[in-house]
Amino acid sequence: MTRRVARRVFPTLTGPLPSRAELERIVDDKEAWEALFEHPLGTAIESRFSHDLVRGVVLTDALIGTFTHAHDQSLRQNRCFLYHVIGNGTGEWNVPLGGMGALTDALTDAALAACAEILVGHEVLSVATDGTAAEVRYRTVRGEGVLAAGSVLANVAPATLARLLGEEPEQPAPEGAQLKVNMLLRRLPRLRDRAVAPRNAFAGTFHIAESYSQLDAAYREAAEGRLPSLPPSEIYCHSLTDPSILGPELAERGYHTLTLFGLHMPARLFEGTDGVAREEALRATMAPLDACLEEPIADCLALDADGLPCIEARTPLDLEADLGLPGGNIFHRDLSFPYGGEGTGRWGVETAHRNVLLCGAGAIRGGGVSGIPGHNAAMAVLGH
Ligand SMILES: Cc1cc2nc3c(=O)[nH]c(=O)nc-3n(C[C@H](O)[C@H](O)[C@H](O)COP(=O)(O)OP(=O)(O)OC[C@H]3O[C@@H](n4cnc5c(N)ncnc54)[C@H](O)[C@@H]3O)c2cc1C
Repeated sequence: MTRRVARRVFPTLTGPLPSRAELERIVDDKEAWEALFEHPLGTAIESRFSHDLVRGVVLTDALIGTFTHAHDQSLRQNRCFLYHVIGNGTGEWNVPLGGMGALTDALTDAALAACAEILVGHEVLSVATDGTAAEVRYRTVRGEGVLAAGSVLANVAPATLARLLGEEPEQPAPEGAQLKVNMLLRRLPRLRDRAVAPRNAFAGTFHIAESYSQLDAAYREAAEGRLPSLPPSEIYCHSLTDPSILGPELAERGYHTLTLFGLHMPARLFEGTDGVAREEALRATMAPLDACLEEPIADCLALDADGLPCIEARTPLDLEADLGLPGGNIFHRDLSFPYGGEGTGRWGVETAHRNVLLCGAGAIRGGGVSGIPGHNAAMAVLGH
């Protein structure tokens, strides 16, 4: 069902926004429309799957970066699920060859080839516009300056753009809710289940404490302001998919990257704790992983030049401080269904100002490494 929806919805993402009724006609599947666009996802999951583990694995796509539960009437879980299952028209997840740096290098090359001038280390302080001409005030280590522009395309979060424009954000972004843990390993850990080779176990998504009931219990605990007693998480080993992420020497020695995405870790759990809650959350998250392993993950970690283990944990508050993500929300704001309505504009990138456009995750149909908001902002500028 989701594959059919993916095939039909994905091509619409780089066109002008369809209306809700138009998208329903494009989906052309009453059952799928009701399951994904109208009723809380939990209803569809429970009517189709009976096993607690299978239900949970399906639900995780609805909870990435989204602090919610299966029966949330706001349907934010449905929107998160939808974007996770329609990518490329198949729902398949991809890893950029060479890592994310290769993607930004390719963007840089394309921009330079098109005669763009790229200025890094420029913090934007404010954006002023009269709808036709705009001014962007910035600060660098050498001082402040102003750039004049016909149009401003902003990939900061909508709440940040509102602040730069001197406006109140329409609604504050919901808090981020993930603990991200990045690791470099000397070797993949052996599993307690000897029947599964580590390379196979970590080749896809490795789910930990993510059954349907465990996800629900963790959400309830976190919503009450407590660290989940059994934090759900999932792990990806990108270097198994693309060994070029590591240098040839490390790859040859059997090193691997592991990245863990922990769910139900809202920003509120970390406020005012001065890093203590981060350490507690990290310990609590690694415990159920270690329970699946024959050797603790700590024994497999590589050591850096100072002899310290190569592991870093990032809370929503860390992402807010390091990257300016409001509340540490990885999608910049709640994801939207991919259709238009009152005030959404033609492309889903428009703001109250004709020449100021969103070109990042906060646009309608944004929220991931897709390039879609950038494409759509360009179309809007070109007057399509
Ligand atoms: C932990 C985590 C895991 C994720 N996993 C995935 C995934 O597996 N797949 C996927 O598709 N997406 C994933 N995402 C989401 C994806 O990373 C984002 O959707 C994407 O990076 C958004 O790109 P963007 O260019 O819109 O915004 P950002 O990447 O947030 O870039 C905005 C930039 O603006 C800068 N900025 C902010 N304020 C100012 C200012 N005043 N002046 C100048 N610069 C400023 C910030 O420093 C930042 O560099 C993940 C995100 C996180 C945080």
